[in-house]
Amino acid sequence: MHNTLTRKKEIFKPLEKGIVTMYNCGLTVYDYAHIGNLRAFTVADILRRYLEYKGFTVKQVMNFTDVGHMFEDVDIGKDRMEAAAKREKKNPWAIADFYIKAFLEDSRKMNFEEPMERPKATDHIQEMIELILKLIKNGYAYVVNGSVYFNVAKFKDYGKLSGNTVEKLRAGASGRVEFNPDKINQFDFALWINDPKHIMNWKSPWCEKGYPGWHIECSAMAIKYLAETIDIHTGGVDNLFPHHENEIAQSEAATGKKFVNYWLHNEHLLVEGERMGKSLGNFYTLSDLTAKNYDFNSVRYLLLSTHYRQQLNFTFKSLEAARNAVARLTAFTHRLMNVKGIGRGDKIRSLMSNVQGRFEEAMDDDLNVSAALAALFDFVREVNKLMDDKMLSNEEAEEVYTLIMKFDKVLGVIGRLKKVVTRTPGLTFDVILAKDERGISEEVKKLIQRREEARKAKNWKTADEIREKLKDMGIIIEDTTEGPKLRIKRQS
Ligand SMILES: [Zn+2]
Repeated sequence: MHNTLTRKKEIFKPLEKGIVTMYNCGLTVYDYAHIGNLRAFTVADILRRYLEYKGFTVKQVMNFTDVGHMFEDVDIGKDRMEAAAKREKKNPWAIADFYIKAFLEDSRKMNFEEPMERPKATDHIQEMIELILKLIKNGYAYVVNGSVYFNVAKFKDYGKLSGNTVEKLRAGASGRVEFNPDKINQFDFALWINDPKHIMNWKSPWCEKGYPGWHIECSAMAIKYLAETIDIHTGGVDNLFPHHENEIAQSEAATGKKFVNYWLHNEHLLVEGERMGKSLGNFYTLSDLTAKNYDFNSVRYLLLSTHYRQQLNFTFKSLEAARNAVARLTAFTHRLMNVKGIGRGDKIRSLMSNVQGRFEEAMDDDLNVSAALAALFDFVREVNKLMDDKMLSNEEAEEVYTLIMKFDKVLGVIGRLKKVVTRTPGLTFDVILAKDERGISEEVKKLIQRREEARKAKNWKTADEIREKLKDMGIIIEDTTEGPKLRIKRQS
């Protein structure tokens, strides 16, 4: 695993055998998540899934930032929540609720595993105040005019993550911060801001109406739900400085312990070679892509297929390629369900052990997903050849299917085709192609057959009548390029 802290690849070793504590900087809920955000969360998800594949139990915490995150990431200025409240003429609590719901919906669609906790910053004001009190007591923070600042020059390890040491900051490395006469050093950052006019405010030991700084939120929530020292912390490379550097400074100055052992940062996402921006007209959310008829699996595949430490250039051409790749994998798993070859145990066994070895070797190497996928597609090609030659038995196909599903526990792009959870609680469907006859009753098979014949004869009335009849039986039929697809209502 590449560790930003040491700038090299290291053997991953958790603090406690078999258990991994992981914190992911979550979304600031003032807008929909864009595909750049979704890339960061896809990386966190695939990391968690692969650690589980390797047998670890992962305690994952992903927060929601709903106060104190400023535009341009300076520590005092315009709060994103405040700007959204103004934009939508709602109170900031309603804004947060709305975008949290939207994000949870996106997470389900993106097939992200549910974290152990999803804490909201505003639910943890007390924990933040306590952490700040500790920092004041330990001599790292100071109060001026009701606000509290962290004295960066007092923390000797400052800069160990980003390279922005106190000397470099003195030389003006962080020129973006506006002059503030209350600060001892201009690069000190705010822990608590006295601001009676701020739209969200709380009473604290230092002032009547104030709000927390963005950085202290993540420290407080990571410590509360995980530990004073955690194994892994992830985030986009744009969070590295000042956010993560400041998280380290606050946490370590308060606890006297190392905060995080492994820092993982994913690179930026570009759109058609350019930085994504609302003003550039190249800003996409998940719904923007589904409105263009792309499915969630293709988006997920695209976001995971480039190595996380490389810039990902999002293009519609690459999204098409992702869609084709997912379709190939899906068609392959469908084909496996309907195999009647003679079987040649030795050949398929060696192909299976080879692909598993290559898949794991690639993923063990700092989550090299692209190499893992290359191994997988080589395997698909070889097994397809065996099936063409009728050299794969039904039992062997079952084993291959199980192996593919094991890989897909990590990738998360095929398996859920089998089961669709609908909006109605408790109502689920199994989704299969009509040509995968397994599990379809004779009566249904005959109806599908008759409907196909009617469609060929352009007898739309009969075709529609049969569709309605199937619907009454709890089966929804959809016509796809691979043939009719069935959604069968589950008995349970
Ligand atoms: Zn954070």
